[in-house]
Amino acid sequence: MEQHGDFVDSALKTTILPGVHVGSDHALGVLDQGRPGPTVVVSGGMHGNEPAGVRAILRILETLRAESAPVAGRLVGLCGNVGALRLGVRFTDRDLNRCWDSPSVSYLRATLGHTAEDVEQLELLQAFDAAIAQARGPVVHLDLHSMSADGVPFIVVCDHPQSVQLARELCLPGIAGLEKAIPATTIEYFTTLGHIALAVEGGQHQSPSTEDTLESVAWLLLASVGVIAWSAVPDLAGRRARLRARGLNLPAVKVTYRHGISPADHFRMKPGYRNLQAVHAGEVLAEDDSGPVRAPADGWILLPLYQPVGTDGFFIGSPVVQA
Ligand SMILES: [Zn+2]
Repeated sequence: MEQHGDFVDSALKTTILPGVHVGSDHALGVLDQGRPGPTVVVSGGMHGNEPAGVRAILRILETLRAESAPVAGRLVGLCGNVGALRLGVRFTDRDLNRCWDSPSVSYLRATLGHTAEDVEQLELLQAFDAAIAQARGPVVHLDLHSMSADGVPFIVVCDHPQSVQLARELCLPGIAGLEKAIPATTIEYFTTLGHIALAVEGGQHQSPSTEDTLESVAWLLLASVGVIAWSAVPDLAGRRARLRARGLNLPAVKVTYRHGISPADHFRMKPGYRNLQAVHAGEVLAEDDSGPVRAPADGWILLPLYQPVGTDGFFIGSPVVQA
């Protein structure tokens, strides 16, 4: 039976957000003009209640197409958890961004039988692997996220010297060493394969500034690695200024201390701490059954725990000494 590609393609597409249709390949769009250069794989909506990244990617693709901007290498825009985005929930059966370590990926590839997120992850694996296989140069992954609470936006930097260097171009504080707090994300998948990967926490899910932050970081990344010219970034100076202001001009930070906890500690964070807030040595940050819990050094508090579940009470970051 003869099949008409366009018809079949559009018939299989699903509406995930008003005006946004995605097929089982999770593609939001691909730009490739056959020129040599790196491949940038940008994903958004790995968590279904975080649509800002998806919209940011679409706006960039639309702008580059409308301007007929020259593209060196390849830009691949991907949508994460399609089913959860349709429902507006973080996930359906399990978190799609906590299962990208090698054992989990191998197990998933080898098994049948599947939760909603198993299917999403298998489809995304195919999309990631296809993008990597088709790359004609270095591969860089950028994953766009947002947060439930207001907070200073930041970049999660992988353990790769080029990743730290790249984060400096993105005008937000880069945080190195968070792997213990947030393991098995897509960053781990790409870095295990030897590629550079970064994630952005752009701000509160619904805040208009979050979408602008995510879009701006992606624009700066595309220009930093040379997929587009700096002159192709709309409002470059404005974007840089807004990012620096939202990131409070904080430096790159490395996690130097983790306060691990167990349920028996009855750990209680003092109210009012925000991610990346400055703290001082000796400051009482929390209480547990043995008394006050103090900051061991000057620095910035990272991911203070206010949910009842977790084994990381908080982390302390110190400035990365720049070479
Ligand atoms: Zn997220």
